[in-house]
Amino acid sequence: METEASAEQEASSATAGWWARARRVLPGGVSSPVRSHQAVGGTPVVIERGEGPYVVDVDGRRWLDLVQSYGAVLLGHAHPAVTAALAEAAAKGTTFGATTPGEVQLAEAICARVPGVEQVRLVSSGTEATMSALRLARAVTGRDRVVKFDGCYHGHADALLAGGGSGVATLGLPGSAGVPRAAVAETLVVPYNQVPDLDEQVACVIVEPVAANMGLVPPEPGFLAGLREACDRVGALLVFDEVISGFRLGPGGATASAGVRPDLWCFGKVIGGGLPIGAFAGSRELMGSVAPSGPVYQAGTLSGNPLATAAGLAVLRAVQPADYEALSRRVAALAGELTEVFAAAGVAAQVPVVGPLLSVFFTEQPVRDGAGARAASARRYRRFFHEMARRGVLLPPSPFETWFPGMAHDDAVLGQVLEAVQAAAAVVAEEPTSD
Ligand SMILES: *Cc1c(COP(=O)(O)O)cnc(C)c1O
Repeated sequence: METEASAEQEASSATAGWWARARRVLPGGVSSPVRSHQAVGGTPVVIERGEGPYVVDVDGRRWLDLVQSYGAVLLGHAHPAVTAALAEAAAKGTTFGATTPGEVQLAEAICARVPGVEQVRLVSSGTEATMSALRLARAVTGRDRVVKFDGCYHGHADALLAGGGSGVATLGLPGSAGVPRAAVAETLVVPYNQVPDLDEQVACVIVEPVAANMGLVPPEPGFLAGLREACDRVGALLVFDEVISGFRLGPGGATASAGVRPDLWCFGKVIGGGLPIGAFAGSRELMGSVAPSGPVYQAGTLSGNPLATAAGLAVLRAVQPADYEALSRRVAALAGELTEVFAAAGVAAQVPVVGPLLSVFFTEQPVRDGAGARAASARRYRRFFHEMARRGVLLPPSPFETWFPGMAHDDAVLGQVLEAVQAAAAVVAEEPTSD
């Protein structure tokens, strides 16, 4: 039998070993920037496997995971319904380059759940979805200008990185090197939660109807309806980027909960059940402009991939409206408790919550836009992140990412989160707020 101490020593070496190898062959040791812990420091966990609300790292340490692949996982890791669907699909072949029943069924499932969606084009990532939706909006309006909101993230396509949240905000980048000025010349970035003045040059307004890439920032009452009216006034299209909110707030996403219908939708994350996927969608009329029905070219070798559609369908079929409601109630209760814990510890904090989404900002002011999110204390978040990690809870390694408790996070699991926050809050109280 190993002693605990030697087991722990060995433990740190597996992570350190993999991380050293990762940094040699992957830029920054990662395949996507936020995973590198640039915002919080320290060595990221290297994950061996997941089980429900937990992940297990290469050293066998078990963590309560609130990242859940940044929202791609809804049922918890390695859910039996998903792994069974995947095994069955994989045994039949992984890709054909032809229409398969799975993609028809997934598109039908999306149309059935989101009010207003009649046709869906499946792609392989959220980035592809927004990029293609933009092309479609520009084509059907015959206009070039795009309006987006500071702090909203729509993937890493050239035209949409400006003022992006998520990893772009984490790294403090205004956009990205390598983006030609011409590519963003027609992108207008405006503050979230303010209805902008539009003119007849605008092809579309793209928005996260619930902003979840600058931490969580709920839309204020009237904001989305105001966008709908502003777009209608000038003949611009309204695009809801529901890559996070779709099938996570509820079966109808933000479209159903806000009662505002966009012209085009972008989906991703949940609809792939943890496999690479994306989709853009709209009325039959608008989607009729997409090739081969219409002149807007868009294509993909792996689009509608049988594994991704099987996993996504398994997820959509496994959850009922009541499951979303129950999860949202659990998360609302947790958010209320966290607010009380921080107040009792004398820590100025905001805990925004929308359905099952929440995040924590260390600031006295409610956060309503990108500027507010950036004004919150990154230093306190960094301390909080590590104090939670010491207690076995993995938070997103950036204050600009949302927490994703899912169907596997029951009361007992969320109770563990609360206990960890109770202990961590006392330590955060000692940390200065300024960076
Ligand atoms: C994650 C995300 C994207 C990009 O999706 P990828 O699959 O990472 O390309 C786009 N929009 C929003 C709102 C997202 O959260």
